[in-house]
Amino acid sequence: MIKKLIRSILGKKKKDPTQPLILGPKQHGINPQLVSPNAVRVTKTLQDNGFKAFIVGGAVRDLLLGVKPKDFDVATNATPEQVKRLFRRAFIIGKRFQIVHVMFGQELIEVTTFRGASSDGSPKDEHGRVLRDNTFGEQHEDAVRRDFTINAMYYDPATESVLDYHGGIDDIRAKTLRIIGEPEARFREDPIRMLRIVRFAAKLKFTIDPATRAPIPVMAALIDNVPAARVFDEMLKLLMSGHALACLQQLRKEGLHHGLLPLLDVVLEQPLGEKFVTLALANTDVRVQQGKPVSPGFLFASLLWHQVLEKWTAYKAAGEFPIPALHLAADDVLEAQTDKLALQRKIASDMRDIWAMQPRFERRAGKAPYKLLEHLRLRAGYDFLLLRCASGEIDSEIGEWWTGFMEGDGSERELLLAQKPKVAAEAAPAKKRPRRRGSRSGAKGVNTGSSAGGRGNDEQGGQ
Ligand code: ATP
Ligand code: MG
Repeated sequence: MIKKLIRSILGKKKKDPTQPLILGPKQHGINPQLVSPNAVRVTKTLQDNGFKAFIVGGAVRDLLLGVKPKDFDVATNATPEQVKRLFRRAFIIGKRFQIVHVMFGQELIEVTTFRGASSDGSPKDEHGRVLRDNTFGEQHEDAVRRDFTINAMYYDPATESVLDYHGGIDDIRAKTLRIIGEPEARFREDPIRMLRIVRFAAKLKFTIDPATRAPIPVMAALIDNVPAARVFDEMLKLLMSGHALACLQQLRKEGLHHGLLPLLDVVLEQPLGEKFVTLALANTDVRVQQGKPVSPGFLFASLLWHQVLEKWTAYKAAGEFPIPALHLAADDVLEAQTDKLALQRKIASDMRDIWAMQPRFERRAGKAPYKLLEHLRLRAGYDFLLLRCASGEIDSEIGEWWTGFMEGDGSERELLLAQKPKVAAEAAPAKKRPRRRGSRSGAKGVNTGSSAGGRGNDEQGGQ
């Protein structure tokens, strides 16, 4: 009995890392219907031309969990050039890792060549982060280079077999996230893996293995050295995963939120905005889960709104008129975030549009509401207004008024406009004196004058 136990432990330790566990359809239970026909086309074409080719990574993980993967990656021993030659619409992209994008209509299949096992010889920054790595290798070496055991399995659609090099199947069954290799070294090589593990833990409801988790709080600061654009991409994936709320809670649990991004500090530490942010993220999660589009501009505008609000109030208190004050506040907030977060220009301008529209919703007389109906971002601005109402920041009456105005026909609109004095009287106590002056002086200026702090509103193209 003891001998058997020792043998099984030694046996496990001695497992040849170059030899995968191979599972047949009965053992893995993958439903071939969930596999993209285009991914199968890619593996088949490569195999027909004498190469090895497998579906790999997140798609295999999702297939094993019975979930339809949102995209498919293929790994092969063909070089990027060899892959490119086999497909009509194929493009080699990337610097840090070269990959081939093979396009079929709207669907994109990412094809990567097996990576070599060691990144020892690759250029690194002074903290040990791998900067570039295009050495190719064997399949088992490629498996070692992947991040987590559950992301390092290969599926061959032709034979319907799964190749598992690192105990991924066991970890899937035990709902465990485990990094491959020595955790500290792997997080150092690429600190983004810390954000990835948080996203997977929240999304899959998996537990992080204690040895994998242990170094995270100590290593969190290394994320600062990662180029802002990459952090931004990963944050966006996290926020648009359909589990944004859970992800942010998990970030906090792992001690990753502090100083990681100014954005997260703002979002997670401010009691005032918490309700607003929670509502915004819950909304986003529902939209993603329903397969509806989500705009990053709207998302980030929501996450940062209370910071804008605070600064806006301060500028107004210092004597600025409301509209220019709002733009100054927006400038401050966008500037503070752009450094770390590399907010793309398009996203930043969408955010500004959404914010700048908010005071315009307060103006419910004359031609102003009609003018606002023409705004290209009206829908986003209005959804944002409803969030402000739902969070208790402003009276829900204003949201109801706009719902009525947007949905109403000509006479209903006129009726709503005629109601205005009553509404204004109700809302009056909340309004300060400078606002009156501001709205009067801005009466004409607002439509064009939302550019007071810089950009005009209407120059942006539709979403
Ligand atoms: P999803 O697409 O659902 O977000 P994924 O696991 O497919 O999850 P991708 O970013 O598409 O994530 O990456 C595909 C695969 O590439 C991963 O499953 C993993 O094997 C490998 N990979 C991605 N990023 C890293 C990384 N930073 N370090 C090591 N391996 C990685
Ligand atoms: Mg993927």
